[in-house]
Amino acid sequence: MHELSIATAIVEQAGELARADGADAVSAVTVRVGELSGVVPEALDFAFEVARDGTALAGARLVVEPVPARAWCEPCAEEFAVGMPPFFWCPACDRPSTALRSGRELEITGIA
Ligand SMILES: [Zn+2]
Repeated sequence: MHELSIATAIVEQAGELARADGADAVSAVTVRVGELSGVVPEALDFAFEVARDGTALAGARLVVEPVPARAWCEPCAEEFAVGMPPFFWCPACDRPSTALRSGRELEITGIA
């Protein structure tokens, strides 16, 4: 399961951040998950419960901030939602655009 390795990495990283802060335990981890990151939030949630066992994050909850996929059309300066499955087509000028602005995020943005 792909999400388990990601959840393990999140637990390790958050644990290091907490140690750097001098904290022994973490009560919440916030992660930004892009629509196109390939991560299913529900699966990540479940994997996190497995991965956190026996770590400084044993009592932590995972807060997922979904990031919608958005692309940019240079000629008409239009930002538009790509959607899922992704469809890179500018609705303003009816031309293809593949300049992705957001949607691939997979990062810890905060621990508490
Ligand atoms: Zn356009």
